[in-house]
Amino acid sequence: MVGGGAAGMMAAIQAAYAGACVTLYERNDRVGKKILSTGNGKCNFSNEVMEAGCYYGGGAACVAEIYERFGVTETKDFFRKLGMRIKNRNGYLYPASEQAATVSDVLRYEMESLGIQLFTQCRVTGVRNVADKEGAVRLMVETDPKTCKEQETDTGQRYDAVILACGGRAAPRTGSDGTGFELAGRHGIVPTVPALTALQCEGSFWKQVAGVRCEARLILYIDGTAVSVVDGELQLTDYGISGIPVFQFSRIAAYALLEKKKVTAAIDFMPDTDAAFWEQRWEQQRKRHMEQFVTGIVNKKTGLLLLKLAGIREAETVCEINVSRRKKLESLFHSFQVTVRETNSFEQAQVCAGGVDFKEITDRLQSVKVPGLFFAGEMLDIDGICGGYNLQWAWSSGAVAGRAAAGAPEFEINTRTDGTVEVRVTELTDHLDRLHTTELGGIRIRKNLALDIEDIAAWCRTKIECGQAVITRQGKNWYVEVDNCVITVNAYSYTIITAHRKVHNPQKPLQER
Ligand SMILES: Cc1cc2nc3c(=O)[nH]c(=O)nc-3n(C[C@H](O)[C@H](O)[C@H](O)COP(=O)(O)OP(=O)(O)OC[C@H]3O[C@@H](n4cnc5c(N)ncnc54)[C@H](O)[C@@H]3O)c2cc1C
Repeated sequence: MVGGGAAGMMAAIQAAYAGACVTLYERNDRVGKKILSTGNGKCNFSNEVMEAGCYYGGGAACVAEIYERFGVTETKDFFRKLGMRIKNRNGYLYPASEQAATVSDVLRYEMESLGIQLFTQCRVTGVRNVADKEGAVRLMVETDPKTCKEQETDTGQRYDAVILACGGRAAPRTGSDGTGFELAGRHGIVPTVPALTALQCEGSFWKQVAGVRCEARLILYIDGTAVSVVDGELQLTDYGISGIPVFQFSRIAAYALLEKKKVTAAIDFMPDTDAAFWEQRWEQQRKRHMEQFVTGIVNKKTGLLLLKLAGIREAETVCEINVSRRKKLESLFHSFQVTVRETNSFEQAQVCAGGVDFKEITDRLQSVKVPGLFFAGEMLDIDGICGGYNLQWAWSSGAVAGRAAAGAPEFEINTRTDGTVEVRVTELTDHLDRLHTTELGGIRIRKNLALDIEDIAAWCRTKIECGQAVITRQGKNWYVEVDNCVITVNAYSYTIITAHRKVHNPQKPLQER
């Protein structure tokens, strides 16, 4: 396991539950550093409401499938089992202690009790394919000798499976500085941009309204087309706009800016008022000065700024303002246009959008290029909106990758339509095209079965496809029993290790659905 963040710790624990011997490498001096700063120190670790639109990126399409195996219910059960009470605030889930440290503490304690070997202050610099004596591919983890003391760490250690859970580029002070993408090697990386972050806007007036917080409706425009509408508490800063509604669409703005598109936003400071409000106000306040007129509508600093931008002096009386000037002021209150120059940097962003391309991983989060290499968490090309969605992805992807890497069967999936249990084909039959053998494997099989077959892999594929095969999984291997012989396949590399006549059943292996 590379990376001891939310995804990495969950993956390590689930892999250990499944019987794997797990080692975790973390470059920081402790695990779970980012978790401590989540949810303003309270850690909004999940959300009861999961729907389309909560996630962006290439992984958004497969998130439901991952959550069916390990979703919000499983996450709550998991943390409760670890001793954490949960607080539910309108669907937003927090530890009852309201301390983010509780979440990282219970994970750490569980890792300790499972005997997971932990190397902190140990940066992984490479993950390489190496072949073992049997010809099966294993993965070698290389560590940085400057940060890892060689005698203490298993540098150059070989593993059956490696999970990369190094995070993205957001909040690099917590350890995720993007170097994880280098470990992903030749995997495609969807360009990364800061997400859940503030937007820097044009204009020299921002200092006048810095610090204002107000309920508002924001509409984001890309090249003049409205692409997103969000209501919520807007924060005005000395450089532009911030707050949850801005965070929610910041990743759309970031990608548009990357593509050199024009990004603007319209702010409605009074989404709950209509034309009748203004008619009444102009009438009721007709003897007042304009400073008095704008006082009490919204935050005074905002009112005075809009007055100024409408070209109206504070000392003018309401009667002096003609219809077109009135309309101009009203439209500033309801559709204040700002031009976005850039997003805040990764330093201030909560999440990194983009990452390892989902086209290059299986539904169990294993690389299609490097057998035995898995990915979890924010490293992948998926990012959620605010509200516990990013941590939920870390838990779910970590659990699925952890179990898969340990060679455990799929989490149970029940079909709920007609009450019957869904029968899933095994991962092996799903990926028969990846079946191959080595020279050594070929020699063994020909000898054991007294066969003279040109293409051993094609022969095995046909046997497995015939539908009579009983496929079981034990440790890192698949055992295919068919026509009175047993074919052994490495479950990570899909290498056919050997095949022999069936003399006895391999000691009660786990039955794969
Ligand atoms: C301020 C802030 C507030 C947030 N609040 C929330 C919230 O309330 N709710 C929510 O759902 N999400 C929140 N998020 C987002 C959420 O924290 C992340 O999406 C999530 O923690 C990502 O988990 P991860 O395990 O994928 O990555 P990370 O937590 O980034 O962990 C990656 C780990 O890998 C380590 N690492 C990296 N490279 C190497 C290497 N080469 N060798 C060894 N170790 C390495 C890093 O040191 C790090 O510990 C917040 C984020 C921030 C910054």
